[in-house]
Amino acid sequence: MRTTTTDPVALAQSLIRCESVTPQEGGALTLLQTLLEGAGFACHRMTFSEPGTPDVENLYARIGAHGPNLCFAGHTDVVPPGDEVAWTMAPFAAEIRDGALYGRGAVDMKGEIACFVTAALKYLGANGGKPQGSKGSISLLITGDEEGPSINGTAKVLEWLKQRGEKLDACLVGEPSCRKVLGDEIKIGRRGSLNGELVVKGRQGHSAYPHIADNPIPKLARMIERLAGLKLDRGTERFEPSHVAVTVVSVPNTASNVIPGQARALFNVRYNDTHTRGSIEKTIAACCKAAAEEIGAKFSLTFSGTGDVFLTEPGRLVEALGEAVREVTGHTAKLSTSGGTSDARFIKDHCPVVEFGLVNATIHQVDEHVAIADLQTLTRIYERFITDFFAKA
Ligand SMILES: [Zn+2]
Repeated sequence: MRTTTTDPVALAQSLIRCESVTPQEGGALTLLQTLLEGAGFACHRMTFSEPGTPDVENLYARIGAHGPNLCFAGHTDVVPPGDEVAWTMAPFAAEIRDGALYGRGAVDMKGEIACFVTAALKYLGANGGKPQGSKGSISLLITGDEEGPSINGTAKVLEWLKQRGEKLDACLVGEPSCRKVLGDEIKIGRRGSLNGELVVKGRQGHSAYPHIADNPIPKLARMIERLAGLKLDRGTERFEPSHVAVTVVSVPNTASNVIPGQARALFNVRYNDTHTRGSIEKTIAACCKAAAEEIGAKFSLTFSGTGDVFLTEPGRLVEALGEAVREVTGHTAKLSTSGGTSDARFIKDHCPVVEFGLVNATIHQVDEHVAIADLQTLTRIYERFITDFFAKA
């Protein structure tokens, strides 16, 4: 099907029809590349690999040779459809019913990509094919590895850009940020996320002779109770209080008359800007050590991290976006830091970053769908935002 460059709905449909479940490219990046090259963007396709992870394709497209470089970041990969029989409409058919477009990725986030590309092409069309005459650049950083391990995606494209000496000056991540209506929330930061593994070591033995064994289970229970009850802070102006969630407790044992040799718990910490990755690890380690000393537990504690906390202080970028949302929808968007992590966690080390996209009510669900009207409204918001960004640059 031919893509009309000025219609976000047709473009979203074409993208949904590319079956790009992570790590499959599914034709989605090629479709965008063809469209953007036709509009004068210089496109770079990058495939990154890493032992133990699937190869992933990425696309960086830029028009304009000067700064400021306004970047839109997103992903064409989608989560699997799950039980396809449960879908009212086939997940990759991109059908429209009752004013809504159905399909995997309609909201997360092929819809937003279609809106931004449409908005950018409209803006360029109205400005002689270049951002603000000849100043400034518009770029798109589109990965195929956001829903997967996120190793061969945005982080590596950013590294590639840095090595080329290419700078992003501001970035809009098109993740679905709204809760109930389009325009109700802009994300200006994300909490940090840290995973921990706590293993308590004991001594295996017969349950009838507990004095010659050392049962790690009650000790682990005491320690995770302390962790779960840890008051890390009271929250900040922009963030909810930090918390520890114990998510897995496991003991390698199947016999009720055997005291196991060790017991293990996994937990996840979501922390705000009162902490850093380093300070939160220290706090957790100190809590475990204090609890272990009281009960004489031998333990090991290891951390693996996903994203560190970040906040883009309200400034020109956030204001320009808030203003565009207000002009187009009449809503004053709440500046939020709630929710999980996104690729903004990598971008924040390179330039100010905000996230704004569609209503996230159906993401990752059966019958993911977006209102056609929202696709049109979001396109207008993005176009307004691009115009204001360069007008004030
Ligand atoms: Zn997403």
